[in-house]
Amino acid sequence: MISQKSLGAQPTLSFEFFPPKDADGEATLWKSFDKLIATSPDFVSVTYGAGGSNRETSLAVVDRMAKEVTTIGHLTCVGSSKSSTREVIKRFEAAGVHSILALRGDPPRDNPKALDDGDLKTALDLVDLVTSETQLEVGVAAFPEGHPESPDLAHDAKVLALKQAAGAKYAMTQLFFTVEAYTDLVETSRLAGATLPIIPGLMPIGNAAKVVRMAEMSGAKLPTGLLAKLNGADEAQARIIGMDYSIKLAQDLLAAGAPGIHLFALNFSKAAIEVARGAGLCR
Ligand code: FAD
Repeated sequence: MISQKSLGAQPTLSFEFFPPKDADGEATLWKSFDKLIATSPDFVSVTYGAGGSNRETSLAVVDRMAKEVTTIGHLTCVGSSKSSTREVIKRFEAAGVHSILALRGDPPRDNPKALDDGDLKTALDLVDLVTSETQLEVGVAAFPEGHPESPDLAHDAKVLALKQAAGAKYAMTQLFFTVEAYTDLVETSRLAGATLPIIPGLMPIGNAAKVVRMAEMSGAKLPTGLLAKLNGADEAQARIIGMDYSIKLAQDLLAAGAPGIHLFALNFSKAAIEVARGAGLCR
């Protein structure tokens, strides 16, 4: 169980993968997986496209990973019917998934109204569905800098407490870049009664240009001092600056009481292993 591992004496190490888009991506994924699995992670997770766009690939990846390591299948519910979601949950179970990360997902940019379609309007509805139909452990998302649609962190914290009351056993965060963002989230969540383990998601700054782009897309703020240093450096220097920063952030998060580190590996192994080693998480 993810929550039990997260409450254990040792901090957990875990990695997130996404379903590959083509044969080259597939080769990269499995090569990276073999290297990352050699670090003995506690669990891995596999993303799932909103609207089920990559459902078959996601299920195939889960099917293979779950035979080797505790595997969380992400599942989104935006625009989906209850019956089709039920079917997907059954297929995740058949694939041997150990836990489901219950997410709403985002509507496609060209169809924001997709949020109104479907039977399941929020992740809370999906938590209810998974917990009522299966014995699978359910996790949910958390947002250190607040969800973009939320008025403030306190609102998110109330929603997190509702998800916990509905049966969610752990939360995993969106990417963020300061330890304060994480500790604020934990403090606000605890005040709202959400006591579940909150596992920080950390994106190693191996390829600085890519991480800056992903931060912009997700709304995560890179500290201005770090951004200036990255922008002023060549590619090789930026990697050193970024990785030093990522390792220190992982160390500081653990020192601040985080139950583990979930590394967004982006289907590559090198940077994720460097952070895991630097944070003393490789077994
Ligand atoms: P919800 O919990 O439904 O929240 C959405 C908004 O509605 C929030 O502002 C929330 O505060 C509000 N809200 C929800 N319930 C209530 C309520 N009862 N009362 C009042 N307000 C409410 N997306 C993918 O497509 N695929 C993935 O694999 C994926 N993996 C992710 C993994 C992690 C760790 C994280 C943090 C995000 C991931 N996402 C993924 C992105 C996620 O789907 C989006 O961020 C989405 O906008 C919100 O998802 P949610 O589950 O938090 O939604």
